[in-house]
This record gives sequence, C-alpha cells and structure tokens, in this order.
Amino acid sequence: MHTPRCNHATGSVMDYCQAALDAGLSEIGMSDHSPMPNGFDAAWRMAYLELPDYLAEVEQARDVLADRLAVRIGIEADFHPGTEEAVQSMIDSYPWDYVIGSVHYIGDWAFDNPDELFRWDSMDVEQAYCDYFELVANSAATGMFDIIGHPDLIKKFGQRPPAGSQRVKAAELAMLEAVRDADVALEISSAGLRKPVGEIYPAASIVQQGAAMGIPFAFGSDAHAPQEVGHGIDECLRSLLQAGVTQLASFHQRERRWVTIEQ
Ligand code: ZN
Ligand code: FE
Repeated sequence: MHTPRCNHATGSVMDYCQAALDAGLSEIGMSDHSPMPNGFDAAWRMAYLELPDYLAEVEQARDVLADRLAVRIGIEADFHPGTEEAVQSMIDSYPWDYVIGSVHYIGDWAFDNPDELFRWDSMDVEQAYCDYFELVANSAATGMFDIIGHPDLIKKFGQRPPAGSQRVKAAELAMLEAVRDADVALEISSAGLRKPVGEIYPAASIVQQGAAMGIPFAFGSDAHAPQEVGHGIDECLRSLLQAGVTQLASFHQRERRWVTIEQ
C-alpha cells in the first residue's frame, strides 16, 4: 500500500485502513516506495526527508486502530545493484514489520514505467526476462528483504518471450532457488490484474513451482488508491489453494507468522 509521498498514489493511511475495515480485513500493511540514494528514480518515491512523516502517519493509524485492525509498518525498497549499502542503512534505521524488495529497473531502464514503454521496442524480450529474473534472484540472495515484490513484474505491459523458452524457464527456476535458499517470501500480487497484462503476479506456473519448493507467499494488492485495498484477494488466494498452499505469510517486527487461508 502506498501514500501520496511516492507521487503516484492517492489517499491517507487512514483512508487505506478504513478501506481494509470495509473489506472485512483484519490486517493491513503499508509499504510505500522507499527513498533511494543518488536521486535514483526520485520522481516515483518519497524523499529521505519524508520518511519520518510517513512513519508518524502509519504509527498513528496503527495506534488509533489498535483494537480493530492490525496495521503493519513496511516499506518497498528497490533492489538496484550499487545501492545496497544505502538501502541497508535505511532498513537499519527503523524497526519495520517487513521490508519488500522490488526490481523496477534493468540497468538504467525502468521497464515497468509507462514513460519508458517505448524502450521495449528495441529490447530482446527473452533477454529482458532473463536479466529481470537474475536481478530478482540477486535481490533475494542479499538477505535484506522479507518479501520479494511482484516477482514477475517484467510481464506488466504484456511483452512475452518466445513460448516455451528454456532460457526463461531456467532463469525463473534460478530465481525460485535463490528465494528458497534465502528463506524469503514471494508476494502474490493482484496489481497485475489492473495492468495491461491482466494477470496476477506471479504467473500460476511460478506459484505452483514455488509452492512445490516450499516457498512462502504473502498477499499484496499493491494499492495506490484506497479503493484498491484487498482488490483481487479471492483470485490470488484461489491461485495459492490450487497450488496446494494453505497458509499465507504475515510479518510482525520482521518475524514471519502463518495465517491459514479460509476455504
Ligand atoms: Zn508504486
Ligand atoms: Fe513495486
């Protein structure tokens, strides 16, 4: 869940919490886009100076709603090689409930940014998928994150590698092995349902393979507006159940807890 500090979301934290209550949820996690060093992707995230205000707003909602809704305080950090040290010190600066690690860039290409959609035209799609999954694997291997965000975001605009690409299959498997080895959770996100690809992140095949490997899953709607809170949760839970997953991962003070999926 995001806040207007990232410049592409609307609504107050209280609005998101109210939407969660209206949707019958018992727990919500806020995870706005973290500040990043050296002006990285600055237009799409809060500045370092806004972090205290973000935390104060979420803490206040958590305290006010304590007996009605569990409000978890998280952050969505970017994994971008070269920034790890600065991101780690941001993570160390606060007792988060959870930290999401997301890959939004391949090199200097913001592949999921509508403003850079044109760059897909000159890309080798198969290579882009392989590069993306390698970055996600590396993000998991850092051990810095609790949850890997939208694990196949590369498909957002619908570009697809050749059907049955063995290279992409291998890259997906290597990503899942890194996630399993680092004991981090994968986000199952409904955001893809609202994007051109029109599909849950990650694809059912990745959910099934990850489930068979014992990888935990955490649900996220990645809401950028209060009305998106909990969007697609039934569809995501169905995808998990179909893969034999009966428990969701939830995080409190960076410890994983299990929540049984109601069937
Ligand atoms: Zn966002
Ligand atoms: Fe993201």
